[in-house]
Amino acid sequence: MREFVHETRPMRVVLRPGAATTATPDEVQRLGLRRVLVVSGPRGADTARSVAHALGDACAGVHAEARMHVPVEVAERAVEVARSLGADGCVAVGGGSAIGLGKLLALRAGLPLIAVPSTYSGSEMTPVWGLTENGAKRTGRDPSVLPRSVVYDPELTLSLPVGLSVTSGVNAVAHAAEALYAPDVSPLVALTAEEGVRAVTRALPELAASPRDVEARGGALYGAWLCGAVLGATTMGLHHKLCHVLGGTFGLPHADTHTVVLPYALAHNAPAAPEAMAALGRALDTDDAPGALWDLAGRLGAPRSLAELGIEEADLAQAAREATRQTYPNPRPVTTEGVLDVLKAAHRGLRPHTTY
Ligand code: NAD
Repeated sequence: MREFVHETRPMRVVLRPGAATTATPDEVQRLGLRRVLVVSGPRGADTARSVAHALGDACAGVHAEARMHVPVEVAERAVEVARSLGADGCVAVGGGSAIGLGKLLALRAGLPLIAVPSTYSGSEMTPVWGLTENGAKRTGRDPSVLPRSVVYDPELTLSLPVGLSVTSGVNAVAHAAEALYAPDVSPLVALTAEEGVRAVTRALPELAASPRDVEARGGALYGAWLCGAVLGATTMGLHHKLCHVLGGTFGLPHADTHTVVLPYALAHNAPAAPEAMAALGRALDTDDAPGALWDLAGRLGAPRSLAELGIEEADLAQAAREATRQTYPNPRPVTTEGVLDVLKAAHRGLRPHTTY
């Protein structure tokens, strides 16, 4: 018998082509909101404006100033704008950066949040917020930042370049992979994670071949939903810690870093996580999940080495020290030497094996 604790948090999820403009107004109305602020990043401003247009009088304004990792001045400015417009809710349109800003509005201005994701990062499914101040990123968990409603629109992702689609998809796979060996995994989470990996990794080659295929885009968003849900339900391990350090301290791009590090972090943890590896193996149809993920990234033209992302080998020791400063759950004990071996292997970018 497997003992577990499972908690389900209330949230509505809608997935259908066109939903950004056809379903978001209904979601705003269901929540009784009358003046929502639509937030996005600068590149998502046109999409945000079309959502705002669909909202009509229920939209108080568009604020297209979200930036990666939510710098504190960006969050403060958004709170000011929301207050000056008398906003009573927020619709965040975009990737993890736009949704991250929406979460800060939920946290600091108490605004109920509706997320309309345009990448596969999964932030919309978690109660985790992040804020960057003086070059350091803090994160926290607060149920108030969990979106009340998530609107997945495959058409919104048609413009996501193939490169970003692939790395963002692998970012989603990383959530599910670490959920499978998390200390708080439940049977429902494990099933969801396995199906999430299956859906995303099936969709990625299809959308890389036909980026405007709404079916493939829908499959990727479906998988991203599942992977985000298990991220929100569990505690992540070494892989996420490494990516947090490499992104936060060394400025490496979020989704690319996940894509490069995942095969090596999994190869390191594999000997201590046989059930998780079996589940990943079923999802990927392989008996070598880390190797299969490395192969997939290569086939789809994604980066496969930290060297490609611009970090110097000389910086890896500092990254290893930072990634081991605090304790966190991981199937294999986390040591500075072990982590440095993983980072060195990821820096070289050769096919992973399980002896790091
Ligand atoms: P992002 O939101 O920064 O987007 C990456 C780039 O893609 C941006 O330039 C954006 O304008 C562009 N883009 C997004 N959607 C597009 C589309 N459909 N078409 C064309 N261009 C598009 O990147 P991301 O990977 O989605 O999110 C990363 C951020 O989210 C990081 O700050 C990360 O820490 C955070 N995150 C948080 C959680 C959480 O649970 N709190 C989970 C995952 C990621």
